[in-house]
Amino acid sequence: MDENSAPFQRICLIHYHEIGLKGHNRAVFEMRLLRNLEALFCDFPIVTIHRISGRLCIFLKEGTDYATALALVERARVVPGVARVSCGYKCEREIKTMGEAAIWALRDACDVSDVKTFKVSARRNHTDFPTDSMEMNRVIGAVLCDAYPELSVKMKEPDATVGVEVVQNACYVYAASVTGIGGLPVGSSGRVVCLLSSGIDSPVALWRIARRGAECVGVHFSGRPQTADTSEYLVDDIAHVLEKSGCIARVYVVPLGDYQREIALAAPPALRIILYRRLMFRVAERLARIEGAKALVTGESLGQVASQTLDNIRAVEDAVSLPVFRPLIGTDKLEIISMAQQLGTYDISSIDAPDCCTLFMPRSPETHAKISDVEEAESAFPIDTWVDELVASAESHRYTCPSYKRSK
Ligand code: ATP
Ligand code: MG
Repeated sequence: MDENSAPFQRICLIHYHEIGLKGHNRAVFEMRLLRNLEALFCDFPIVTIHRISGRLCIFLKEGTDYATALALVERARVVPGVARVSCGYKCEREIKTMGEAAIWALRDACDVSDVKTFKVSARRNHTDFPTDSMEMNRVIGAVLCDAYPELSVKMKEPDATVGVEVVQNACYVYAASVTGIGGLPVGSSGRVVCLLSSGIDSPVALWRIARRGAECVGVHFSGRPQTADTSEYLVDDIAHVLEKSGCIARVYVVPLGDYQREIALAAPPALRIILYRRLMFRVAERLARIEGAKALVTGESLGQVASQTLDNIRAVEDAVSLPVFRPLIGTDKLEIISMAQQLGTYDISSIDAPDCCTLFMPRSPETHAKISDVEEAESAFPIDTWVDELVASAESHRYTCPSYKRSK
């Protein structure tokens, strides 16, 4: 059999977790995921995407090769809401044809991983199909044993599971499956503003919150004009990685350098970082109100650096009233690095670039800031005017986020 000559239409099945998704919620969730995938995969040869009984089915154009289907699978696995992706075929609801499609599907799975054992897992969603699932498992299993005598059947944890799903008018057969990141589709949980540095942590924090369905708008504070604009380019590269999974709609770039200089010249050195960060939070909060975002998100992890002690986290958060989420607060650096590698931002984040964080740092920063001391130091500066100026100077950059609409 020639690789490209499968006599069946190629499909990719998107599986999602159904737990907790009941009634109206479920339809909204499915439609959101469907629209996100349509927009994100517009460069693939897709005929259409349909809901088929608890799955989304991506129908690929005739002649689409397996490599293209696999590339789609790779992209889909990082999209929030996708719990699993499988490659396979659509065929007639006829047991002999289903067996033939299963032979092709299992061959695909063997192409990409070392398969020695398999099982068949058949479902019928319409009892108008005469053969029940046990019988389908048996018949198709026997066909596969004949076609691949070197493989053996294993019920518990086989290397490949051949899925057979019989629906009203058709049957879908697949075997090559990968695990996705799960969660909820972006756009199903409202909007947040993420403080995005070019470091390792904050892109991961953004991805984690996007995985719970939040649509993210980034804010990056650069050290410009006191430093070069390198960090801005790195953040743009990071945003391009994040947009592949539809997580990020905008990044506001705010040049903070001159304001940090003012603080560094007049405030007690030990409190500088807290004051910089309170200013960043205030600007982010104002941008959140403009964007209709309901929370701020940071990549902080408890105790990781001086500014991330409990006292300092509290002293900074006190400057704003929106909730601040820290998806990485309980994670270790090694865990964060491994997530950054999975996401594909690690190499970009590892490039050193001066941003506002590296500018005018004190020798010994306060690790247990008192809010009253911070407020006193801050009262020397026209903070409200600064926030107005900084928000006015913010440059907005757009990225692909299918659910995003300008004002909410
Ligand atoms: P990261 O790796 O995300 O830069 P970090 O370990 O370097 O984090 P900090 O520099 O203390 O820690 O920053 C803590 C959080 O504050 C970051 O995760 C990010 O959310 C925010 N932040 C820090 N610097 C910036 C910046 N230049 N622009 C926007 N947000 C920032
Ligand atoms: Mg940093």
